[in-house]
Amino acid sequence: MDEPTAPRAPGPLQRTRTVLVDLVLAASAQTPVIVKVGGPVLAVSLGMALYLEGALDTEACGGTPACTELSQQVSLVTTDGTALMLVVLWLVFIAFVGRRTKRLADVARRVAEGDLTARVGDRARHGGSARPPRDELMVVSTQFDTMLDTLVSEQQRLVGLTEELEHQATHDAVTGLGNRTLLLRHLEGMLAQPRSTPLAVVKVELDDLATIDATLGHDVGELVVSTTALRLSAAVRGDERVVRATGSVFAVLVDDVPDDADAAAIALRLLEVVNRPVDVEGATIVVSACAGAVLHRPGEDRTAEDVLRDASLALHSAQRSGAEAESTARTVLYTSRLREEVLERSRTADELRATLTGQPGTGALEVHYQPYALLTDPSRVAGFEALVRWQHPQRGLVSPLEFVPVAEEVGLIRPIGLRVLQDAAERSAAWHALDPSRAWTTSVNLSPQQLLDVDLVHRVGDVLARTGLAPHLLTLELTETAMMLDLDGAARRLQALRDIGVGIAIDDFGTGSSSLSYLHQLPVDVVKLDRAFISRLEDDTTSLAMVRAVLDIASALGLTTIAEGIETPGQLRILGELGCDKAQGFLLSRPVPQDVAQDLLVGTRRLGGQPGDQPGDQPGRHLGGAETGGLRVTS
Ligand code: C2E
Ligand code: MG
Ligand code: MG
Repeated sequence: MDEPTAPRAPGPLQRTRTVLVDLVLAASAQTPVIVKVGGPVLAVSLGMALYLEGALDTEACGGTPACTELSQQVSLVTTDGTALMLVVLWLVFIAFVGRRTKRLADVARRVAEGDLTARVGDRARHGGSARPPRDELMVVSTQFDTMLDTLVSEQQRLVGLTEELEHQATHDAVTGLGNRTLLLRHLEGMLAQPRSTPLAVVKVELDDLATIDATLGHDVGELVVSTTALRLSAAVRGDERVVRATGSVFAVLVDDVPDDADAAAIALRLLEVVNRPVDVEGATIVVSACAGAVLHRPGEDRTAEDVLRDASLALHSAQRSGAEAESTARTVLYTSRLREEVLERSRTADELRATLTGQPGTGALEVHYQPYALLTDPSRVAGFEALVRWQHPQRGLVSPLEFVPVAEEVGLIRPIGLRVLQDAAERSAAWHALDPSRAWTTSVNLSPQQLLDVDLVHRVGDVLARTGLAPHLLTLELTETAMMLDLDGAARRLQALRDIGVGIAIDDFGTGSSSLSYLHQLPVDVVKLDRAFISRLEDDTTSLAMVRAVLDIASALGLTTIAEGIETPGQLRILGELGCDKAQGFLLSRPVPQDVAQDLLVGTRRLGGQPGDQPGDQPGRHLGGAETGGLRVTS
């Protein structure tokens, strides 16, 4: 058995090798990936050299001097020579490749952190010249830098594009003014700062932009809008901001407005600026508008959205109340009352919806009837006007003046109108059956929304067919305003209704702006003179002259005339003298429930009866007939 040989102490060469291997490993740990590749290569090369040296070990020579000498030479040449060469190579590798690779890695890291100014190459040194790259690493570096240049220019392009998009998102393309988003942003900025003075927002809306677009064309509409934008911009101070909030609404943001009176004055001034004719290719377009203003005081708990919403509330209020009024009435300043009114209207709308869907405990709609008579025979019913009421569980009998406008706003007027038409036609058919030889008519009010309904004629025909009421016994009442919304469509539908035999009446005649000029253009049979004229008939010569003129024209056009709101015998007498055909008013009867109406029709109750003749009538009250139970007539 061989004696175990003691391990030989490492010679100087072996120690050097160990140190070198350690050095390679340590350096490899500090160097980039590409340099790490050099580590294993060096190790393998070194290993091969060592193997060669081992293979030619002097002991293996078996004491042969020639072999021993060769072994020593090989050892010297291979091991030490290879090691030396590899170290030199490695140093060169570190110096050239490693340094550049590290720089590439550094730049990549900086770019990843968002620094697009980082570059691998030293352009200044190369003078930016296109020197051909010496190796692949240089190619990669150069292309990396080129890629960064492209990235930077792309970034600049994107910044430009973003700015353009931002401008588009916050500005109006037609006027170049800011839009609502921009206004909101400015307002938010102003509200975020501590404030010592109030600010105001005034919203101005053009009245008839949709009509101008529809009748004169979109280009003319845009011209009106641009002109308004210019006028408003010229009318404000430098620090006041004008924007086009939506299609026909402009808004002005004004800082340092001392009080309500100043806000109202600004609104009025802006309205005056807008309310001027616009000349378009020789033609003059009369522009009108409404304005709503809100004053926001320091410390008030409102967001920017709240401020804009309150300005809109004021604007809508101005539009509702000032439709026919002078400019002062067409500006409204926001008050908390407006907000309450909005809440009240939305409550009314919800309750009305519940009533319409027949929810128990929500009341019911009722139709009352106000008779009219021939002026030549005022004691005999010549017809009834059907008037809707709302029997409300808490409020009692509610006037249509309180809920019809709400129903119009929220789109409930069509089902309500149809129900009234159905009830009135059904009732009239039943009453006509009592005495078929007697001809009297039933009038039913149609809202503007109903007139816009393309199925109107079909719906009316359907009701007549279902109830059996003869078409010529039905008259539909419409205001001029309703007809003006869509003059062509209105004329077409009204003509179609007349074609099936239904009569058409213009209600509240004289309250619109263009009454007489449109009279001959519309297919109407009856003109109902508004109560406003009748009430002033006895003491106002202008009203007298107006009534006379309307009666003359109506008679010339072969139209039947009904005077509304006759309250005194004097009015009745004058209208008789002027040749008016029919009379309607409290003097003859207030609107009454259907059982009372039937009594009036068959003569068991007298028309023009004294207060107290009819159940529930109270002298001196603004309400009469059998309309009891808390009906509040606000007109
Ligand atoms: P209108 O169609 O002009 O109806 C006449 C209104 O004048 C009625 O008010 C009537 O009570 C009132 N009136 C009649 N004679 C006199 C009088 O001598 N003095 C006074 N002070 N008032 C008189 P009511 O019933 O409150 O209706 C108001 C308005 O509500 C109606 O005006 C009509 O525009 C609308 N309305 C009523 N029912 C309906 C309906 O079923 N559909 C639609 N769309 N609107 C309706
Ligand atoms: Mg009417
Ligand atoms: Mg009327």
